[in-house]
Amino acid sequence: MKIGVLALQGDFDLHRKALARIGVPSVEVRKAAQLDGVSGLVIPGGESTTLLKLMDAWDFVPALETFHAAGRPIFGTCAGLILLAREVERPAQFSLGFIDIAAERNAYGRQRESFETELEADLGQGSVRFKAVFIRAPRIRRLGAAVRPLAELGGECVMARQGSVLVAAFHPELTEDPTVHQYFAAMVRTATTAHGIGANLAAGGGDRGAI
Ligand code: GLN
Repeated sequence: MKIGVLALQGDFDLHRKALARIGVPSVEVRKAAQLDGVSGLVIPGGESTTLLKLMDAWDFVPALETFHAAGRPIFGTCAGLILLAREVERPAQFSLGFIDIAAERNAYGRQRESFETELEADLGQGSVRFKAVFIRAPRIRRLGAAVRPLAELGGECVMARQGSVLVAAFHPELTEDPTVHQYFAAMVRTATTAHGIGANLAAGGGDRGAI
């Protein structure tokens, strides 16, 4: 199992380090064709408008749609959450719409209002606490019926999942806490087994017909 980290802009390197700390191999994804070689993808924080421009320039949108349709997990943090949302507010911009939420950009204030806190979530094995860093974070303003809230802060959802798509308004890669990356790695492992992606890649494939 190998997880790709979208490496167009933002703090992709820290996600790779967080995955390495839990023993999960990762690769930088800079071209859409590289998605064929990975079983899951992290879209890091950064600047969502810049990320969008680069994704458009490198033809990522159709490739990500195929990746998502094949059931391969995607984890978006902060700017990544904004890109995955169904709707984006203030200002509105294009988004992939893979998770039925509305995201309001920069809704926790400016850079200097960034903060670190501890969150509590039930990630399938009872309640766990973990550290989270919020940097010019988006707020989830609407949560669709199919979306499962996983963690909240002050009564508002800050981490959510819909099927193979996981989003967090914060940056788990900026702490040494492995909890959230472990949860995503488990999602990828399950999807890989369920869809036979691992077997397909091991055979040198990447042929989506076999998934
Ligand atoms: N506010 C940024 C945006 O709208 C996201 C910030 C982040 O990823 N840390 O793209």
